[in-house]
Amino acid sequence: MASVISHGILGIAVSTLFYKNNSKKFMTVCALSAALPDADAVGFWLGIPYAHMFGHRGITHSILFAVLWGILVAFLWERKKNHTILYRIWLGFIVTLCTVSHPVLDAMTTGGLGVAFYSPFDNERIFFDKRPIVVSPIGVKQFFSSWGLRVIKSEMVWVWLPSFIFGYLNYKIGKRLLKR
Ligand SMILES: [Zn+2]
Repeated sequence: MASVISHGILGIAVSTLFYKNNSKKFMTVCALSAALPDADAVGFWLGIPYAHMFGHRGITHSILFAVLWGILVAFLWERKKNHTILYRIWLGFIVTLCTVSHPVLDAMTTGGLGVAFYSPFDNERIFFDKRPIVVSPIGVKQFFSSWGLRVIKSEMVWVWLPSFIFGYLNYKIGKRLLKR
């Protein structure tokens, strides 16, 4: 995995695409959605092998998982409010993007197994050709070491900086669009 902080930052950056609702609540949902796929780390404690469909970077890192999660959030979001269908579809799409941003980052890390993008239909583990992000340790203890420092450094360059630029520009464009 990339570190949970970086997944969250990228999620918040993607959330700015939802011009109609840049609320803190929505940003939080997006940050959590971007971190959610790593819930599969419990598999390590349950003894599920890494390469298994339910192992780390398995089905929770798939495109299907992200789509289903997006649909669920779009359905549950502010149930009592009368949002239009289009509003909910767009919201669900953004949440899906945030969730998919997770395996995309993971596929650019230097270690572990690849990501099962097409699970459960095809459980092949995939990496991208370019992998500039130093893989983050799973344990907290290892994170506070020179390894953790290298992770932070590479994520600052490859995730934080692009996220801030993307989020900032989007926010500016969004404000303009809303003024119309
Ligand atoms: Zn992951």
